[in-house]
Amino acid sequence: MNVLWRRGKLQAEGVVNVSDCIFCKIVAGELSSKKAYETDEVLAFHDIRPQAPVHVLLIPKKHIASAHHIQPEDAALVGRLHLAAQKVAEDLGIASDGYRLVTNIGVHGQQTVPHLHYHLIGGRQLQWPPG
Ligand code: AMP
Ligand code: ZN
Repeated sequence: MNVLWRRGKLQAEGVVNVSDCIFCKIVAGELSSKKAYETDEVLAFHDIRPQAPVHVLLIPKKHIASAHHIQPEDAALVGRLHLAAQKVAEDLGIASDGYRLVTNIGVHGQQTVPHLHYHLIGGRQLQWPPG
């Protein structure tokens, strides 16, 4: 279990606070981001290391460590996160050609930020399967 994943697990369990979570800092305005969409409960911002012409991250403002840590009471929030992804894809002009919505989980999933996020990637022909 790597350090980031372990921290996420501890945060999800409420063992440590989320003050060192970079995405919580973006939500709080302590770190800057290039916003694509925002509501009172979700935020979409451009990835700092884009892997395609469009690469936006969608997060709940609530700290959830990963998709594997979603609780039943988060179901409506996660649904609205998906609806936000649809809107961002439409707004950025990639919806008609298609795109990818993906979330990495844990060490084997190569999750590096332990705050639930969906990568919205598009604007070019994507390949499958990922490595
Ligand atoms: P993952 O590896 O799936 O956890 O994705 C984390 C993503 O966050 C990577 O694509 C990073 O490039 C991106 N990222 C890390 N820090 C920032 C930041 N401050 N602003 C925007 N994107 C970030
Ligand atoms: Zn967080």
